[in-house]
Amino acid sequence: MRPRFHPRLINGPFEDPGLYIPFLFENRAIIFDLGDTLSLAARDLLKISHAFITHTHVDHFIGFDRILRISLGREKNLHLFGPPGFFKNVEGKLAAYSWNLVKNYPYRLGLRLVEVHCNYLLTREYLCQNQFIPTRKAVRTPYKDVIYEEPAFKISVAVLDHGIPCLGFAIKERFHVNINKDRLAALGLKTGPWLNGFKKAIYDHRDPESKIEVQSDRGKSRRFKLGELAEQIALITRGQKIAYIADAAYSPKNQEKIVSLAEDADHLYIEAAFLEVHQNIAAEKHHLTARQAGTLAARAGAKEFTIFHFSPRYADQEHLLQEEAGEAYALHR
Ligand SMILES: [Zn+2]
Ligand SMILES: [Zn+2]
Repeated sequence: MRPRFHPRLINGPFEDPGLYIPFLFENRAIIFDLGDTLSLAARDLLKISHAFITHTHVDHFIGFDRILRISLGREKNLHLFGPPGFFKNVEGKLAAYSWNLVKNYPYRLGLRLVEVHCNYLLTREYLCQNQFIPTRKAVRTPYKDVIYEEPAFKISVAVLDHGIPCLGFAIKERFHVNINKDRLAALGLKTGPWLNGFKKAIYDHRDPESKIEVQSDRGKSRRFKLGELAEQIALITRGQKIAYIADAAYSPKNQEKIVSLAEDADHLYIEAAFLEVHQNIAAEKHHLTARQAGTLAARAGAKEFTIFHFSPRYADQEHLLQEEAGEAYALHR
């Protein structure tokens, strides 16, 4: 099985956080947090359709300027989700630049901002052509856990406490469509971009009697009934789940929310700023220790986990953080 999501941290564990998640066979990605993004090529940044920001401490959000800069001059809608106060943060960044020349640009770059509160969302749009001055009032909608959804996946949130509200995120594929290559070959068909459309039709619950056009390996076009083709070449399995926690205190409430958000994740990315010997400093700064991170990963039943966002005080002691988290995970599994 080839997973749909291919997450990778954009920087080393002592540098700015950010989890870049490109989608297999799609020219598209999402990102959790926007720390320094210089490690990402412009073409990778341009793939981002949705950015989910845990909180606006500078190391989690300084990358906004670069994605804005690279997106200018493009026909693009960039969706950004962030904690309460997010509109003001983004408006402050936009107000730092002069926009007198953008009015006549032929393209339409739009920013669609969503402020995530405990049980409602506020949505507001900012168009480049309008010099990023919003023309309409924010729209308020209630939600429970899920803040964004497409036929193939959904994004859930936990509003955590980090001295300020801080969001934890999980992306979960609804189910996974595996393609049986042997059967594909037996039908004289090749893999290719058409499989994206085929999978999308399944996620969209399109009528099984509807026709789908496929290029055969001899270059000819053939038509199949969607349902019949799916029966022959597709195997449906459990969807992939990736969770991301950056910056949270180890309070009982946070623990409960993190365990629930990351439940059964295939991979949990979780901050571990300090060693357990410095748990007092961790508590003061509303951060986790490596032992706490490993314990939470185990309690959530995460199959795999990665710690990051280490305090610079451990510059040459990374192995201690890894060992501590690994031991806690093994102990609580
Ligand atoms: Zn922080
Ligand atoms: Zn941080």
